[in-house]
Amino acid sequence: MLSATLALHRLRDGNRRFVAGEASATGLVQPGRRAELATGQTPFAIVLGCSDSRVPAELVFDQGFGDLFVIRVAGNIVAPSQVGSVEFAAEQFGTRLVVVMGHTQCGAVTATLDELLGRSANASRNIRSIVDRIRPSVEALVAQGPSWDPEALMHEAVRANVRASVNQLRHGSDVIEGLIQTAGLVVVGAEYSLETGVVEFLD
Ligand SMILES: [Zn+2]
Repeated sequence: MLSATLALHRLRDGNRRFVAGEASATGLVQPGRRAELATGQTPFAIVLGCSDSRVPAELVFDQGFGDLFVIRVAGNIVAPSQVGSVEFAAEQFGTRLVVVMGHTQCGAVTATLDELLGRSANASRNIRSIVDRIRPSVEALVAQGPSWDPEALMHEAVRANVRASVNQLRHGSDVIEGLIQTAGLVVVGAEYSLETGVVEFLD
C-alpha cells in the first residue's frame, strides 16, 4: 500500500493532469480490469467529498477504477456513518491517506450561512441534520463581525468547514486515532475550485 506521502503525490499529479486537460484514460474500464478488481480492492486514498455533481473525486484527481474509496455527502460533513466508512477502508485495505475535500460555492455551506444570517426559511429536519453539522465552525466566523465581504465570508466558511471535518475524523474515533499514531495514517483537508479545477491542500 502507498504511504500517505506517495498517495498525496499521486493525487496532486492527477489533479495537475485534470487541470491541464491531459487526463489519462484510467476512467475507461476494460473488462479484464473489472474482473481483476472483483476479487479485491486496494484503494490508495480515501476521499470524503461533497455530493455536488461538479466535484467527482475520480475525475478531478484523474484516477481510475479501484483507486479511490470515496464517501460523498452534501457539505462533506462528518457523521458516524462517515467515520465508520473511513475506519472500514483504513482497516480493511490499509489505505493511509484520507482527504476531506470541500469546494468553492458549496450549496450546503451557503445554506448554513443563509440560516445563520436569517436569509432562509426553515429547512426540513433532514437538511437540518446537515446544516447543524456545518454550523459550529461557520458560526464562529460570522460572530467575528458584520463587516464581512460576502465572498470572503463564503471562502473562509468553506475552509472552516473542511478543517472541522478533518478535526472530527482525526479525533472522533479510537480506530482512526490509533492508525494515525502507529500506522502512518494521515488526514488532510483540501479545497476544490469549481472555477479553475485546482485542488488546494490546506495543511
Ligand atoms: Zn458542496
